[in-house]
Amino acid sequence: MTDRLHITTAIFYCNAPPHVGSAYEALAADAYARSQRRRLGRARVSFLTGTDEHGDKIRRAAEAEGMPPKEFTDRTSAVFRRAWDGLHVSYDYFVRTTDPQHEQFVQQMLARSHSRGDIYFKDYEGLYCVGCERFYTEKELLPANVCPTHNQPVERISEGNYFLRIDKYRAQVVEHIQRHPDFIRPDRYRNEALNMLAEPLADLCISRPKARLEWGIELPFDSNYVTYVWYDAFWAYVSAPASRDPGFITEVFPSADHFIGKDILKTHAVYWPPMLLSAGLPLFRHLDVHGWVNFGGQRMSKSSGNVADPVSYEAAFGPDVLRYFLLREVVYGLDGDFSEERLIERYNADLANDLGNFTSRVLSMAARYFGGQLTCAPAVEDDAPDAALAAALGQLVERVDAQVETLAFNRGLEAIWQALDVANKYIVQTAPFTLAKDQAKLPRVAQILANLTEALRVVGYALDPFMPVTSRRILDLLAVDQAAAAAPYGQGLKAGHQVNPASALFPRIEKKVR
Ligand SMILES: [Zn+2]
Repeated sequence: MTDRLHITTAIFYCNAPPHVGSAYEALAADAYARSQRRRLGRARVSFLTGTDEHGDKIRRAAEAEGMPPKEFTDRTSAVFRRAWDGLHVSYDYFVRTTDPQHEQFVQQMLARSHSRGDIYFKDYEGLYCVGCERFYTEKELLPANVCPTHNQPVERISEGNYFLRIDKYRAQVVEHIQRHPDFIRPDRYRNEALNMLAEPLADLCISRPKARLEWGIELPFDSNYVTYVWYDAFWAYVSAPASRDPGFITEVFPSADHFIGKDILKTHAVYWPPMLLSAGLPLFRHLDVHGWVNFGGQRMSKSSGNVADPVSYEAAFGPDVLRYFLLREVVYGLDGDFSEERLIERYNADLANDLGNFTSRVLSMAARYFGGQLTCAPAVEDDAPDAALAAALGQLVERVDAQVETLAFNRGLEAIWQALDVANKYIVQTAPFTLAKDQAKLPRVAQILANLTEALRVVGYALDPFMPVTSRRILDLLAVDQAAAAAPYGQGLKAGHQVNPASALFPRIEKKVR
């Protein structure tokens, strides 16, 4: 183990553009990455996302649009990348499974497992769902052999294929989960995974004959076959950093956090660990499993027609608003609900009122009474409200990061809003606008404003993982550099420091904006 970390989102399947549900995963992983970077240092954290571009579903989607698969995925992958850029997702790697570097890496891993005797050929007849791109056993299907996901009858097909030994590693995976209680988080998913691993597992079919599907990575030991899209996609978690840094897999990958949705728990808990072990590689650190973001109580999905485009919310409400809403509303691991009405309520109450008003009041008073200059450093005078403010802001960033470390993004934001609440009450209790009418009380007003400005600085810095644009705007309004921004409460702003005039961060929304 090192003090380096590798963080991944799932590798998004490229047959449709991202929606608010897929954005949630990228935003949670991004908040986690940003929080870890400020604890460990920028260079010690790598954050990877990307697109999964092979397989039959993509070939069909491309065909429906009348274009070659690569041209189709060039377009769809770019839509994901633009969405993540638009939401300020700070990935270090954006991997495409069609990257030549990735393809070579997958072939190396196939060759490794093959040479260790973990890949074998056998004739296979089975029930295959084209939509799922997988074989089913009869007991997994609905009556009349209907796919439970697609509600369509599956096809019986017969063909020779390559299989990866899975059950061989089952005991080892179970033992690993038992020895590392937080390997799969939250707990409910750990228990689900242990249930899946409680019975003997079928080996995984990892090939498709080219006669049926050419759109994939060729097997290094049989040019008549390409590899199964799922097998291919897993390696995207490591292919790019491992190609750049030979020590990556042994030194950094054991500290990897995979952010995934609960629908792919089985593939990640049951198939991915044996894939790694059969290639002679270590396991990752955490599987961080989230629930659905529903839309008016219903699961968001392309087929249900309730898909919301995440970037359109960014455009309509401003930067960070969707980020704030999802990370504040959704409890990681549980299902959450998205609605525009609720987003506007949160915007007005939390962003326009609590955060926006606080920022503009502090900066307006600093400008009005002292021309924007702090005449003293923040300090606790012999005064109860000063001490309460210092207590609320002291260690705020550490408390927030500790919540994020356990995936409690909502609690991290609640901690910041509790501090804001104390800061807003401090304005009411100390009433600097009243004191300022008396010349003799100006030194006390100066102290109050120094404390408030310092509180705003700590809040601005604490917000970075969740609201990076807002964080930057607040710190820019305060004209602080990176070192001062990160200082503990009371040690950031100095006497003589000049801040900028107020500007509205979150103007109130009076009605539906779109
Ligand atoms: Zn299916």
